[in-house]
Amino acid sequence: MIQFDQVSKAYGPLTVLDKLDLSVAANEKVAIIGPSGSGKTTVLRMLMTLETIDSGLISVNGEPLTHMPRGESLVRADAAHLRRMRGHIGMVFQHFNLFPHMSAVKNCMEAPMTVLGLSQDEARARASDLLAQVGLADKLDHFPSQLSGGQQQRVAIARALAMRPKVMLFDEVTSALDPELCGEVLAVIRDLAAEHDLTMLMVTHQMGFAREFADRVCFFHAGSIEEQGPAQALFENPQNERTQQFLRAVM
Ligand code: ATP
Repeated sequence: MIQFDQVSKAYGPLTVLDKLDLSVAANEKVAIIGPSGSGKTTVLRMLMTLETIDSGLISVNGEPLTHMPRGESLVRADAAHLRRMRGHIGMVFQHFNLFPHMSAVKNCMEAPMTVLGLSQDEARARASDLLAQVGLADKLDHFPSQLSGGQQQRVAIARALAMRPKVMLFDEVTSALDPELCGEVLAVIRDLAAEHDLTMLMVTHQMGFAREFADRVCFFHAGSIEEQGPAQALFENPQNERTQQFLRAVM
């Protein structure tokens, strides 16, 4: 479903991704862990086409993400291709990024109406259904400022799902929340993973959740994957010295 082939990225002298190879199968749930600055968020931002890549290729659903074939070679994709590819992917950010002047339900209706062309009634029905799924059926008309952080993050998850993506990206979605609110957001993600056919890629500092949720855990270090494997094996028996050091420090 997702394929990074030898993807590199630098900001000036700083190499952020170094010939990264990563493939994620359809429906697979992958957790990305690693020290600060190791390139984890950059991977997600690239999938959302919020970052350009310097070299290598990213494919989603078998198609190049930011390039398209012309004759024998690949050229930079046009806006229509990027829009179509972005439609496969939803992202939830650390700081929710809700529209502050719109109610919860309006937040979830906006993109389906403007991007997918749903009518107001269709968009409202879809949004209400998703907000109920994330436990917010009684908060449809609340504005973000009237919701707790955990509730805002659940609106953000419903908003991303309203576009019916095949892939969901979660970027440290609990790190701006008080510990007692993390559980409710993680429970929603766990339920979604069980109920929907979604490929999920999650950057997280919550090792307990990564272990329980992920089919596979990738440990990033200095812009590439230093070690990866099934969650239980990686947490219980890490092979690489850097992984061992990291896990000792955070667990
Ligand atoms: P954290 O766990 O702290 O969020 P991360 O592993 O997600 O870290 P990234 O956010 O991917 O790391 O950033 C990787 C490196 O790239 C960091 O050193 C960061 O400072 C740098 N970086 C990210 N975006 C930019 C930018 N727009 N310009 C310059 N440097 C950047």
